[in-house]
This record gives sequence, structure tokens and C-alpha cells, in this order.
Amino acid sequence: RAKDGGGNAHHRYEPALHASAEERRKLEFSLRHALERRELSVAFQPVVDADTESVVSFEALVRWNSAEHGFVSPAKFIPLAEDTRLIVPIGEWVLREACHEAMNWPSHVRVAVNVSGEQLLDHNFAASVVSALAESGLPPHRLEVEVTESIFLRDGTMANQVLERIMSLGCGVALDDFGTGYSSLGYLRKLRFSTIKIDRSFVQGAASGNAESIAIIRAVVAMAESLDMSTTAEGAETDREVEIIRKLGCRKIQGYFFGRPMGAMDAREIFKSRHYLDRQRVA
Ligand code: C2E
Ligand code: MG
Ligand code: MG
Ligand code: MG
Repeated sequence: RAKDGGGNAHHRYEPALHASAEERRKLEFSLRHALERRELSVAFQPVVDADTESVVSFEALVRWNSAEHGFVSPAKFIPLAEDTRLIVPIGEWVLREACHEAMNWPSHVRVAVNVSGEQLLDHNFAASVVSALAESGLPPHRLEVEVTESIFLRDGTMANQVLERIMSLGCGVALDDFGTGYSSLGYLRKLRFSTIKIDRSFVQGAASGNAESIAIIRAVVAMAESLDMSTTAEGAETDREVEIIRKLGCRKIQGYFFGRPMGAMDAREIFKSRHYLDRQRVA
């Protein structure tokens, strides 16, 4: 640290910094060609109704299998795509793929697509949603756009306007990773979100008996109910987590316990399975 290293402190870290900048530059170079080289794909993760456990939607999650770098995690390349604005064409591609694929599912099943701030605030965004719906034939109510709280920090007024436009098309808007950012409740008054997604950290906390996590989930569920918004618990991995989420009244659950992100063909198979059909009959 600066205290023991004196004035030379930053020199010691330079090789590491240099290496990561170099890695970043290489990744960026590859990412620029990822779309045209068809290295990107979309995985779909099921979201189930907490009571019936039937699939109500899938979240579309982009995947990158790079010729140079192998599988690169979204945690690594999404921030890079955001910094370079490559997220605009990439995000538009994911949106179109997701809408097209959703046409192969039963008509009550929705698709959720993540949208970054850079993409949302791009002047073409609303038009790209309109054309993705028109080209695929997907009814607007079957598309839910997922945004995080961070978009309101950049240009809150503009973000509100764009999201209102998306809602006026008939699409849903979900608030993703709720509770992890700067949670100002002000925007919950302005925008009628379809879903609040409670971050996995609260789900884990609740299952390990953390009183604060339990209180927060309970409060978010109560607030969402009175504002006529749905709730999804993210990242449920164990039956213990599923149990507590249910007790706390979350409407929907997403997590490895019910299904990992999967290829489009595997997602389609879910609707053909006996297990699924039985559940639909009960529901
Ligand atoms: P997110 O939108 O919160 O998506 C949920 C993430 O949690 C996904 O990670 C998913 O694989 C993971 N997850 C789901 N269930 C579980 C579980 O039970 N346990 C654990 N440990 N993890 C679980 P993934 O696919 O790596 O994506 C990470 C983030 O990258 C996403 O978080 C989202 O913010 C971003 N992202 C992914 N695809 C896109 C995209 O097409 N566009 C944009 N703008 N962002 C994307
Ligand atoms: Mg999401
Ligand atoms: Mg999330
Ligand atoms: Mg999350």
C-alpha cells in the first residue's frame, strides 16, 4: 500500500495493469468481429411461477465463443462492449434473436432481454424494438426489457422517456438486480415496471438466515404487490433457497435449481416434456 511503499507504490503494480490493458485491447479487437464471425449466441434461462413451477418466461443471455479467447464470460465482455458502444449492435442482434426464438414457444411464455444504458439511450433503441417485434411477429406483451437501476444515474429523464415509449408499445420492463445499485425509490413512482428482480445476494442471505435479507425481500414483495408489479427471485440454487423465497411471497423464481441457461433447442424441448405438460394441466 501507499503507506509502506512510499512514492514508488504505483510502480509495483504497473506490469499487472499493463497486462490487463493489453488483454483488454486484444479482447476488444476480437469483439469487434464477433458478430460477423458468428461467434455470439443466445442462451435461454427459464423463469418459473413460484406456485405452479411452470415456465412463464425465459431470459435471453448472450454467449461469446471467441476463436482467439474461447468462451468469454459476459461479466468480462459486456462492460467492454458498453465502453466501446459495441453493445448497441450486439444488443440489437440479441433482441432480434430472442424475439424470433420466442415464436417457437407456447404463446403465454414471454422472453426477457437485457438492455444496457448505452443501448437504451441510443436514439435508435425504440425503433429497433419496434422492428424486432414486427419482423418476428412477436406480440409486444411477450417481450420484457430488463434494465438495472444504473440507467437512471446517467440520464434519468431520457431513460424514463424511452422506457415509457417501450411500455406504450405494450412491452414489459423489469428492474434487474434490484437492491444492488443506488436504490432510489423515486423511479418506482414514475414508471410502472412489470417485474422487480430481487438480486441473488438477498436470496442467498435469506436462506442462510440473514435477518436483513429476509426483511428486505419481504418489504420489496409487499411494495411490488401494492404497486401492481410482479417479483422474481434471481439465482435460486438450492431447495432451501426456493422454500424461503416461496414463503416470502415472490411470484417467480429463476435459478440453477430450475434450469441453467441453455441453447435454443434445449429450451424448446422443455415444452415437449411429459413433466412440463403435466404441470401445465395442473396449473
Ligand atoms: P443478469 O441479467 O442479472 O442475468 C442473470 C445472471 O445470473 C446470468 O449470468 C445467469 O447465468 C446467472 N444465474 C442465473 N441463475 C443462477 C444461479 O442459480 N446461480 C448463479 N450463481 N448464477 C445464476 P450471465 O449469463 O453470466 O450474465 C451476467 C450478466 O451479463 C447479466 O446479469 C447481464 O447483466 C449481462 N448480460 C447477459 N446477456 C446480456 C445481453 O444480451 N445484453 C446485456 N446488455 N447484458 C447482458
Ligand atoms: Mg437480467
Ligand atoms: Mg439480474
Ligand atoms: Mg443479478
